[in-house]
Amino acid sequence: MNKTPTYQGVDFIIVGQGLTGSLLAHALLQKGKTIHVFDNHHQHASSKVAAGIINPVTGRRVVKSWLIDDLIPFAKRTYKELETRLGIKIYYERNVIRILFSIKDENKWLEKTGDQTVAKYVLENKGLGSFSRKINEGEGVGEIQYSSQVDMPLLLDTTKTLFLNDKILDVEKFDYQLVRFEKEQVFYKKIKAKKIIFCEGQQGRNNPWFGKLPFEVAKGEVLLVKIPNANFDKILKHKLFVVPLQNDLYWIGSTYDWDSPDDLPTEEAKQLLIHKLKKVLTIPFEIVDHQAAIRPTTFDRRPLVGLHPENTLLGIVNGMGTKGASLAPYFVNQFVEFLLEGKALDKEADIARWEKED
Ligand SMILES: Cc1cc2nc3c(=O)[nH]c(=O)nc-3n(C[C@H](O)[C@H](O)[C@H](O)COP(=O)(O)OP(=O)(O)OC[C@H]3O[C@@H](n4cnc5c(N)ncnc54)[C@H](O)[C@@H]3O)c2cc1C
Repeated sequence: MNKTPTYQGVDFIIVGQGLTGSLLAHALLQKGKTIHVFDNHHQHASSKVAAGIINPVTGRRVVKSWLIDDLIPFAKRTYKELETRLGIKIYYERNVIRILFSIKDENKWLEKTGDQTVAKYVLENKGLGSFSRKINEGEGVGEIQYSSQVDMPLLLDTTKTLFLNDKILDVEKFDYQLVRFEKEQVFYKKIKAKKIIFCEGQQGRNNPWFGKLPFEVAKGEVLLVKIPNANFDKILKHKLFVVPLQNDLYWIGSTYDWDSPDDLPTEEAKQLLIHKLKKVLTIPFEIVDHQAAIRPTTFDRRPLVGLHPENTLLGIVNGMGTKGASLAPYFVNQFVEFLLEGKALDKEADIARWEKED
């Protein structure tokens, strides 16, 4: 006799529990939705390697980041709410001390930060503070405020433990071959759901439904180092970023490799990072770890958010690139409002912008 299989029904299956999938899962649970999450906890997931910096004024050209006036308050609110709900500390407000290496750099800084829209993110600098006499000085110093740092690994770990306890997370690779669609529902193993949402980071390039979207490979390598008694309290942007973690531990990064075939640490990048760090610090340091990951970057440097044009049972929130800490809270919320309330997506992030390209 044929037995009809019994399925556990949920509103949404989420594939990927990096920063994006974790934020999406928490947001949907907050709205009273039921979810089931699959994640293979890839060792080199971008969120596990990132510094989590939110920096409003970036780059050699000293420009304000896209949408930053909206992103910062939104990110702050989201991470603070999660801190309260999960009982952890993940959001650190930290200014960025930016070293200006030449008179030309200084002039560029003064010119750009003179602009009204940028000026509010810049502080009149009062010197190097705790970096004084511990780093090689440049020609000048700029200081950025309203910047912050998000502890992504702690958010991921806490979320993983919580979801495992609640039996709403399976630690395994999601097998696309096993997905079935029937009567406006999607079936995967013992679960049936209203939709599957993919938050797979760079692994999204292998997704049979969304893999053709214009992902780009941007591998980054970093060092974790001990700098005994440095007591740096701010983020330093010198030849590298030096970001305080805890107990004399600092995040040092990072490299950019736009066509690496893999996400593994390389000796070449390690030596480059050490070489640069020696140019930054005048005090000793000790290497604790060396990590690598591929940032989920896109051709136009904008996120990839939306439902599949031909199968609306499938959705994606991806493409957070180099700025997931600030972009993911905002675009996850936008996607949830789109999904549950029919609100419009930002055209610059909506995957519909690529439909005509096929
Ligand atoms: C060196 C480096 C430095 C960075 N620094 C910063 C920074 O300072 N500030 C900032 O904002 N951003 C930074 N980033 C970028 C940031 O890491 C990303 O924007 C963000 O973490 C992306 O999160 P995500 O959840 O979309 O992807 P990911 O972190 O890649 O997570 C995807 C998850 O999905 C899982 N997964 C994928 N496919 C499957 C499948 N088929 N089955 C099961 N599980 C699957 C993976 O295992 C992973 O856990 C940095 C990145 C790197 C590499």
